Amino acid sequence: MNAPIDLRSDTVTRPSAGMRRAMAEAEVGDDVLDGDPTTRRLEERVAEVLGHEAALFFPSGTQANETAIGIQVRPGLEVIVEANGHHIHYEMGALAALWGVQPRAVATPDGTLSAGLVEAAIRAPSAFTPRTGGIVIENTHNVAGGTVMPLETMRAIRDVAARHQLPLHVDGARLWNAAAALACPLRALGETGTTVMVSFSKGLGCPVGSCLAGSRALMAEAWTVRKRLGGGMRQSGVLAAACLYALDHTLPRIAEDHAAARAFFEPLADHPAVRVAPPPTNIVMLDLVRHDADTAVRLLTEAGVLVVRIGPRRVRVVTHLDVSVADAARAGEIVARTLG
Ligand SMILES: *Cc1c(COP(=O)(O)O)cnc(C)c1O
Repeated sequence: MNAPIDLRSDTVTRPSAGMRRAMAEAEVGDDVLDGDPTTRRLEERVAEVLGHEAALFFPSGTQANETAIGIQVRPGLEVIVEANGHHIHYEMGALAALWGVQPRAVATPDGTLSAGLVEAAIRAPSAFTPRTGGIVIENTHNVAGGTVMPLETMRAIRDVAARHQLPLHVDGARLWNAAAALACPLRALGETGTTVMVSFSKGLGCPVGSCLAGSRALMAEAWTVRKRLGGGMRQSGVLAAACLYALDHTLPRIAEDHAAARAFFEPLADHPAVRVAPPPTNIVMLDLVRHDADTAVRLLTEAGVLVVRIGPRRVRVVTHLDVSVADAARAGEIVARTLG
């Protein structure tokens, strides 16, 4: 049998030969002691790409996301976040555990907050209710199925945040995908946030790494918090070199992942065993009509297509650097046959 087509996540990519070469050849130093030149180059480049003064390299998106809250929101305050956001589902309760911050979860049908929903969730000053301390938006939105928040919506939320003097954090683990889908410069999206996080370990195909960008003053605070969280890395240039390589070689082809998701979707579009919407980016959510998710995952694994369970009758498919459009199309046909 052929090797399985692994569509569990865009994190399953392996560093390519070219990326490994870039890592092997990276010029490095001790980044905690007195600086790593390759990490510095990456941070300067990411700051530029996202339209901010400075950026800081992190081992994970979770640590960067949480640092953004830690440096901007005091304990006891509320952070407005979409109800299926990464901060809610996948950060192990860190808002509460690390910062004493209360999430104010705002439900949306498709993961896309609006200026109106955010404004309505901001607390009026009161002697009886908590104060709002910040806003988080996620673009693209993972749990909603890779949905894209338009630039105008991001800007409108930024304006609401500014009017209320609240920090706006952009969880942009897949901001690369949003920029490609919107055909919009990353800078325009990045500039909307007071801070913005981007991940290199998802669509960009790197083994490790995320960056947080913001003002120089905020990134100085972030340095301290990252160190406190155990995120100070020594010869991190080995990892940063992979990220620089990805900005040159992976980012320009990221729209292929969207074409692959579309190719996967086609054979399933009118299939009676699944309900599925056309994928906006590189994530496809399948709602199962005839199977529960555990059964579907088992049957599909046996048939050579790896997917993950997202709910009792929902599985997630993610395309990435290591699956071609042809393989994604073949996977869609296998799914159609197996669940039919
Ligand atoms: C993956 C992801 C993160 C960060 O995750 P790490 O696994 O900690 O790097 C943050 N936000 C979103 C939306 C994600 O999908």
